[in-house]
Amino acid sequence: MKILAIDTSCDETSCAVVEGRRVLSSVVYSQAVLHKKWGGVLPSLARRAHAERIDWVVEKALKNAGINETEVDIFAVTKGPGLAIALEVGIEKAKQLAAKNGKPLVAVNHMEGHIYSNFVQNSKGNPIREMQFPYLVLLISGAHTELVIFKDNIEYEVIGRTVDDAAGEALDKAGRLLGFGYPGGPGIEQLASEVNNEDTFKFPRPLIHRDTLNFSYSGLKTSFLYKVKEFTEEEKLKQLKQLASSFQEAVFDTLISKTKKASKLTGINRIILGGGVSVNKRLRNKFRSEAKQNNWQVYFPPYKYLNFDNAAMIGVAAYYKAQKKQFVAKDDPVDRIPRLSLPAFITYKSDMKFSKVRPE
Ligand code: ZN
Repeated sequence: MKILAIDTSCDETSCAVVEGRRVLSSVVYSQAVLHKKWGGVLPSLARRAHAERIDWVVEKALKNAGINETEVDIFAVTKGPGLAIALEVGIEKAKQLAAKNGKPLVAVNHMEGHIYSNFVQNSKGNPIREMQFPYLVLLISGAHTELVIFKDNIEYEVIGRTVDDAAGEALDKAGRLLGFGYPGGPGIEQLASEVNNEDTFKFPRPLIHRDTLNFSYSGLKTSFLYKVKEFTEEEKLKQLKQLASSFQEAVFDTLISKTKKASKLTGINRIILGGGVSVNKRLRNKFRSEAKQNNWQVYFPPYKYLNFDNAAMIGVAAYYKAQKKQFVAKDDPVDRIPRLSLPAFITYKSDMKFSKVRPE
């Protein structure tokens, strides 16, 4: 069963052909250079760039997979969350392709794509990574910071999320304050590594001791801003690496502390990370050492491109949705849903029982 998937949720125009969990081809056209000078993603510019590239990425994905569109069994597309006018481009194209070829369409939540990114295989079927439910998922991207119980295929329960900025957003903003462009995360990671990830300034770890699985980064951001303002331009340059490193440590420590709390609470020790921030080497090392101490099995997206937005993860999520016959109905207009959430957000309470999802 061959699935052609499209994702245009933010600033990557992407198309992939998958068969089960195997990726036969994956094409990602990044608009990052276009948005760099604006310090973030400009929706109208993103839409135009998607519209210009969409046919090209679809054709290239088909060609690289060695098939033509009549050989596709199912079409799939991201319906949200993301930028509304960007999502529309992919949805329109996928609807056209499905209608023209008389094939079913599957609509996928972008965040479920990031969860499935951990189980995407290359064309030879590697890595094998058997699925053993349940998992505890930490989703960390530019727009999302969420803790999710991945109970079974296509079954999720969100148990924590950010109440203000996402972790990736906080890193981007700190990067901007330090004077480097969008996205800020990679610059911060680089500077921090040059001072061995020292924590000189000991910024606050918001909500770390509070009885909640939610995250918050606005207080940390403010205290970072005040610290930066204490310095003259010249001093700031001297302290640049320490500032970047201390900020990154504060953000990562909150991610780890909430994951630990969630793992204790749910009894789940198989931890998955997904989303752009999960590519960060420092974060991965911190999670690996936590894994040793807490007897966790920790997983990251197996190939670099799978950390970022891509259509391969959407195709694999679509495969499991198709197994459950979750197709778009013929009369469904498939409207984009910019704020689409994963289902069943439950507010964590300390006396909550997660007996249903405990392993064994
Ligand atoms: Zn994403």
